[in-house]
This record gives sequence, C-alpha cells and structure tokens, in this order.
Amino acid sequence: MTVRTRIAPSPTGDPHVGTAYIALFNFCFARQHQGKFILRIEDTDQSRSTSESEQAIFDSLRWMGLEWDEGPDVGGDYGPYRQSERRDIYRQYAESLIDKGHAFKCFRSPEELDALRKGLKEQGINRALKPYDLALPKDIMLEREAAGAPYVIRMNVPEQGKVAIEDMLRGTMELDWALVDAQILLKSDGMPTYHLANVVDDHLMKITHVLRGEEWINSAPKHKLLYEYFGWEMPVLCHLPLLRNPDKSKLSKRKNPTSILYYQRMGYLSEALLNYLGRMGWSMPDEREKFTLQEMLDNFDLQRVSLGGPIFDVEKLSWLNGLWIREDLSLEQLAGRLHDWALNKDYLMQILPHAQQRMETLSDFTPLAAFFASGMLPINEASFAGGKLQGDDLLEALQFALWKLENITLWQRDDIFAAMKQTADAGEIKIKDFFAPLFVAISGTAASISVIDAMQILGPDMSRARIRYAIEVLGGIGKKKLKKLEKAYAAAQG
Ligand code: GLU
Repeated sequence: MTVRTRIAPSPTGDPHVGTAYIALFNFCFARQHQGKFILRIEDTDQSRSTSESEQAIFDSLRWMGLEWDEGPDVGGDYGPYRQSERRDIYRQYAESLIDKGHAFKCFRSPEELDALRKGLKEQGINRALKPYDLALPKDIMLEREAAGAPYVIRMNVPEQGKVAIEDMLRGTMELDWALVDAQILLKSDGMPTYHLANVVDDHLMKITHVLRGEEWINSAPKHKLLYEYFGWEMPVLCHLPLLRNPDKSKLSKRKNPTSILYYQRMGYLSEALLNYLGRMGWSMPDEREKFTLQEMLDNFDLQRVSLGGPIFDVEKLSWLNGLWIREDLSLEQLAGRLHDWALNKDYLMQILPHAQQRMETLSDFTPLAAFFASGMLPINEASFAGGKLQGDDLLEALQFALWKLENITLWQRDDIFAAMKQTADAGEIKIKDFFAPLFVAISGTAASISVIDAMQILGPDMSRARIRYAIEVLGGIGKKKLKKLEKAYAAAQG
C-alpha cells in the first residue's frame, strides 16, 4: 500500500498558519512512508472562494518548502483536484445513496427547519434533526417536487446509540448518534457539502491517512457512516490538536495574526516558521528546539504528537527566528534574505511612484519609506494627539476600519478606498478626520504617502496588524465595549 495523505484547504481569505501546520504533519507522514502528499482545494463555497486566495495558498506553502506531489497546479492521476470541478461526481454519488435508501430529498424550507428546531428545544429535547422529523406528508412532498421546489439531499442517520471512531492518537472515541443530524450532502445549488465531497474525494483519490485538525472529530461519525453506505474502506483518521492563543483559546486572528503572509511580511524566515510549527504538539526525541525540516523528517514519529493544545506564541517564534538569523545565515545569505524579503527593485518600484514627488535628495527616501520595511511601528498614544477624533470615537473609528478591511476580498486601491469612505460616511465622519489616525497606524506619522496607497503596498495582513496594534496602543477595547461596537457595526452595514 502506498501511503497517501492530503490537505484540503478552502481558498477563502488569507493562507492560515493552521493550514501550514496540518500540511507539515501530512507532508512528514507521507515522506516517512515514501508516500504521496496531495493538495486538494475545497472551493465548494463559491461565494467565498477566490483564485487569489488559492494562489496565496500555493505560494505560501511553497515558500515554506512544503511541496505537494499532486494538486490543481501540478496535476496527477486522480484529478481534478479542485472540488468545484467535480460537481457531477458528487451529484452522481449522492443520487446513488438515494437509490440505496441511505439518503433522501428534503423539501423543507428554512422557516420550517427553524420551527422544527425550536419545537425540539421547547420540549427540552437535546438532539439533532432526524429524518423522521424532516419527513413531509407524501402528498405535500410530491406537490413540492412537481412544482420544482428547491431541495437538498440529506443522509439517513441512526436515531440513537453510540458510534466508535478510531483515531491514531486518541484511540477509540465514542460519540453519540443522537447528536448527529440528517446531514445535508448536496445543497440546493447542486454543490456538495464538506462531508460528501470529503468522503468521495478521499476515496477516489485513494487517501490512506487523514490527518486533520481536531475540530473535525464531530464529523467523523457521518464520514464513517458514508463510507459504510458506499461500501468503501475508510482511511485511517488522526485528529491533530488545534493551535491555540496564549490564553488557550483557539488561534484566531482577533488575538494573533494567523496569515502566513503576515509572518512573511514581518520578516520571519520560512525555516524558522516551519521549525516552530513542528514544535506545535510535537518534539524531537532529544527535545531540541531548533531543527530543520530534514531533521524533522529523519526523526518523524506521529506518536510523538502530544494532545495538549499547543500554544502559538509569537514571542517564542521571534526568539527562534533570531536563532536562525544569527546562527544559520552567513552575511552573504542574510543579504540575500533581506533582498528577497523587501530590499529589492520590485518592491522599490511599488513605493517610488509615491515617494518621488516628496524627495529632494536620495537620502530623503529612507525616512519616507522606512515604514514599508518595518514591522509594528514605534507609536504611542501621543502619536494620535493631533487628530480630530479622540477617545472612544477614535477607537471606534479604528475598529470599524479594521472590521471593514477584514472583509475586503480583493485588496485593490479602489476597493480599499471605497471601503474606508463608506465607513467614514456611515459614522458621519469627515473623510479627512477619519484618515488621520489611519495614517498614524499605518505609516507612523500624521502626514505621509497616501494611506490608501500605503495599505495597498503593505498588503492586507500588515495593514490590519498595524491597525490592530494601534488600537492596542490606545488602550484596547474591552469585551463588553467590543460587543456593543459589533452590534453598531452590523447595524451600520445594514
Ligand atoms: N477544508 C477543511 C479545512 O480546511 C478540510 C478538513 C479536512 O482535512 O478534512 O480544515
């Protein structure tokens, strides 16, 4: 048997360090067994998937040295490797389950589903919706079908009892069928859900081991049942511990930057980031902290993964990165890294159109452009003193700007400007007053290169991180206040 592992990231938003972490373990496990590591793109959510995000996943995993043997861009014998290109396959398999009596068409409307859920809750019943809850009287169902009403295909699930799930690290886990709903397999738009697509693809792509995040444990019963319904052998499962913030909560961009592009832009070395991710829940036999990918491969043993939630601590990563810079790079190599990172003509050519008009001597360039090759800037509360917005209004404006910027899918000048203008208009703030603190957050000074151009050049991750940092510098926003702001923001968005 050839070991075949895969990752299946969704191309929505920035490439996540969690994706690289799961990729690293899949990569090591496959290599250790002379197997294959596959990249599959889970783009069934068409409204949120973008080709830019897909490209960013490719680029950032490659930057980290995690090459895949099969995938959308490199091909392979089991393609297509993009789920949106496999629609017909999923429909065919979903319909075959109806034929076998393992799935059914469900014509329930969203309002009816809400009412059914509410009904269970009111009776104090804590279980998921089951096929018999969803069944419609035959005549109504036929009527809806004849009228061409939208429907989904759902799977049958047992009403009660336990299901045993085997996991390479966790042994046998018992889960309760009562909590498993009659999962939708095919949505009304003809797209599969994660569960159907995942099982069908893992089978057709001959995946032998599924190493994924522990947030998928609750999906395992459905997957196991689907394998049984299809009569297929299930891959071996392994649920890796989730990365956590220092306060033990699930790693989230609200508390820590999560995008690989951010770490790249901050000037972390790919080897150091990979090394650090390798330390997440895993250790070398001699517990050494610094190791290369090759050393990790030479010593790889999945059983050394410990299940306590690994803490992704940026300070620890910086410390490790420092070791890599000081101990492993010759001056010549360091110069090369700085060049690849930001000190190159390509980057300069992005900055110069905005700098040239403000220069009298060449040396004027350095202070003008320093913030383009910096991490967090040396700002403090006083840096914001000159602006019209102050106190709570200032924090609110920055927070609203941040939320708005988090939702931009295409990071382009015009879109960034429109988003900021909308936010200023919604808050009835003059655009000039709204931009003033953004200038400080993004460039460190009140007057500089246009803040919109600067954000475009810096990219979404660094721009957002700097605004987040500015909020922190200004004292931050408490939980209660944040909740209130969230509501106000949602209302302003309509
Ligand atoms: N799209 C899922 C994710 O990115 C895939 C989960 C899986 O590996 O099955 O987490």
